[in-house]
Amino acid sequence: MPHATPSRPDPTDAVDPLADEPPHQLLVEGASDLMYRTDLHGRFTYVNPAVVQTTGFAAERLLGMHFSTLVHPDHRRRLVRFHAHQLRRGIEHTYYEFPILTRAGREVWLGQNLQLVRDGDEVVGAQAVARDITLHRDAARTLRENEASLARSEQYFRSLTENAHDLIHVVNLDGTTRYLSPSARRVLGSDPEELIGRDARELIHADDLPGLAAQLRELRGTTLSRTVELRVRHRDGAWRVFEAVVRNLAEDPVVNGVIINSRDITERKRAEEENLRLAALSRENPNPVLECDADGRPVHVNPAAESISRELGMSSVRGILPEDHAQRVHAALQTGQGFQHVEVSVSDRVFSWTYRPHLPARVVHLFAVDITSRRVMEEQLRHDALHDALTGLPNRLLFMERLTHVVARARRHDHYVFGVLFLDLDRFKVINDSLGHHVGDELLVVISQRLKDCLRTEDTVARLGGDEFAILLEDIGGMDDATRVAERIQAELSAPVNLSGFEVFTSASIGIALSTSATDRPEHLLRNADMAMYRAKSSGQARYEVFDREMHASALVRLQMETDLRRALDRGEFRLHYQPIVDLASGRLCAVEALLRWMHPDRGWTEPKDFVPVAEETGMILPIGQWVLREACERVRDWQRRFGARAPESVAVNLSAKQFSQADLVEQIEQVLARSELPASALRLEITESAVVDNADAAVVLLERLKRVGADLSLDDFGTGYSSLSYLHRFPLDALKIDRSFIGRMHEDERSAHLVQTVLALARSLGVSAVAEGVEIPEQLALLRALGCRYGQGYLFAEPLDPVEMEARMAAAEVWVDG
Ligand code: C2E
Ligand code: CA
Ligand code: CA
Repeated sequence: MPHATPSRPDPTDAVDPLADEPPHQLLVEGASDLMYRTDLHGRFTYVNPAVVQTTGFAAERLLGMHFSTLVHPDHRRRLVRFHAHQLRRGIEHTYYEFPILTRAGREVWLGQNLQLVRDGDEVVGAQAVARDITLHRDAARTLRENEASLARSEQYFRSLTENAHDLIHVVNLDGTTRYLSPSARRVLGSDPEELIGRDARELIHADDLPGLAAQLRELRGTTLSRTVELRVRHRDGAWRVFEAVVRNLAEDPVVNGVIINSRDITERKRAEEENLRLAALSRENPNPVLECDADGRPVHVNPAAESISRELGMSSVRGILPEDHAQRVHAALQTGQGFQHVEVSVSDRVFSWTYRPHLPARVVHLFAVDITSRRVMEEQLRHDALHDALTGLPNRLLFMERLTHVVARARRHDHYVFGVLFLDLDRFKVINDSLGHHVGDELLVVISQRLKDCLRTEDTVARLGGDEFAILLEDIGGMDDATRVAERIQAELSAPVNLSGFEVFTSASIGIALSTSATDRPEHLLRNADMAMYRAKSSGQARYEVFDREMHASALVRLQMETDLRRALDRGEFRLHYQPIVDLASGRLCAVEALLRWMHPDRGWTEPKDFVPVAEETGMILPIGQWVLREACERVRDWQRRFGARAPESVAVNLSAKQFSQADLVEQIEQVLARSELPASALRLEITESAVVDNADAAVVLLERLKRVGADLSLDDFGTGYSSLSYLHRFPLDALKIDRSFIGRMHEDERSAHLVQTVLALARSLGVSAVAEGVEIPEQLALLRALGCRYGQGYLFAEPLDPVEMEARMAAAEVWVDG
């Protein structure tokens, strides 16, 4: 035996020749138990000195030898079959007793604990701890052989067991203890005399009793033995683990009971498990495993830990340990508590370490798992959650995160100024609709790159969605810096983009908000920039605007208006006024235009220009528009019944672009007409160019459906919008309404007069009628008459009138203006 006792070398004892040996290895090497490993075929790959000593074969002979070579020939086949069964079924752990023949030909019985060794899921071999149990067997055999006299055998027992660690226990058939070897004093803490005559089962853990009883039943009538593990209660109350060889000699006339030959294996088992686990873990484990002494010095390093450190260019395994490794080791040994998930990044790899203190040996075992790929995946997931998939830019979430961050910084540092730019591409929808989504996507990618090129690396450009981008300019001098960036962006974006063969021009509207006070809130800053952008867009695209106090005030007003609008319909605060449209030649009424009015509870009469845009943006225009349509149709139908020829022949209702894109607009109109019983031809729908221009193809289809219902269609505010005369002929129109800005100037401005003339000619060529809006003075009327304009509307004839006034005027006179 190279090492007499399995003890850990004192780390401070430098002359100890064993100091360099890994302690756990020392335990294995120095154990009196046989420890060995085999490969999948049963060939020894490792044997400890106890194997060499017991079998008498040199380690060199044993390694590579099939383990069954050692087994007694009578038992060989059974054992091989048993192991094959274990392997096939993947049974982790078995216990088996069999005799081997030593080199000298001596028969030695082994009790073998065999455990499968796995690499991942795959079984790659087996490892075993076996014990020489010849003595147990002999003792029992002796008992049988000396059956001539129980007294004699008892005497023999006594001599045999007086000083043994083994406990010999003879139990009567009724379960009471008949005999207990004197070792009980040492092993169980009780005098044998105290226990004799008492129920033996009291000593054994209740959970272990059924298994023991089953074994005994099977053994009855045989002289065979079984080895079982039992938990036995020590006098001090603690449960100890016993390895017990039991024989049921109930039928034996001499013994007439059960013989249990047991040994306390609590400590051994603990060490064994620890050793087996460590040995298995460390040698074949592809992950680093270490054992460190109380100062954190690695005293055992498995091959994986060494090769990984080398691979990563570390001179020692310390390089892959956490920085606070020594403190952790100290703490683990002090508290008995380990650590888990201690992450260490080494170049591009990430390891997660587990620290497990082993107090009896004052060492700490460390196990690492390479979590690089998991980290990469987590990184990817985090990246995806915070970035726009198309452009790879940060998304709104990440933008807000960074914005929140700089807002906090500005709060701490007085002179820290930053800016938020809100950018919206002009005409993106047109490009997307006409050239297709993939071209639109391509454009967004190009724009993203250009935006990045305009900025410093510390600035953030994010895509908020669609064609909206936000830019965070960190730590700038002031507004000048922000506007300079906006100008640079606009210059950069003005260069044409070549997309799948198309040359596309874009521009952007930009709103700028600067950090102002310590009370800034991130979402407000972004909203302010958005609002400024909105201003830039509505005052002609490709511009930038700076958010100011006035915008802020109007923003608040708007917010209030939104709330109020939601309630207005339910509370009946809307009214319709009607403005006559007259035949200029005869002065007679031919139609009225329904114009919406809002009686605001606090502000009083509110003009459409102050709330219709808000209603459109919030979608409130849809229910409001439906109400207008119904109210107007019912009112005019009522007048037609009551005023006959003096009543307007038709009613004009304004439709917003939002309403125009409603899927069920046609059905709504049919329903209103049916309910009001107004003839379809008496309804004129007024639409603006902007409503039809954005999506001309769809508009043509919808207008044709409306036409089929029988309604008239007028193009409102003609001349102010895109005035794309080229496609006017595609729309099935009945009338053009000439915008009042031309009418208002025509008597003093030649160009306006000329334009009105042109529109009239155009109307004639399209076969539609013309309505002049905003006729205020007789000169204008005279001019229009001279130019041959058929219809007019304006203060000269009547302002928009409430129904009561309208009825009074209809009753009073047939003619609205003198001929
Ligand atoms: P619009 O469709 O161009 O309506 C004509 C506007 O011109 C009305 O303004 C009317 O009061 C005004 N007006 C009429 N004659 C004269 C005149 O001789 N001189 C001047 N300076 N103005 C005149 P109002 O009622 O303030 O409506 C403004 C706009 O609000 C309308 O322009 C229309 O676009 C919108 N609107 C009104 N009612 C509705 C509605 O029920 N639905 C929708 N979607 N929009 C509506
Ligand atoms: Ca109108
Ligand atoms: Ca108009």
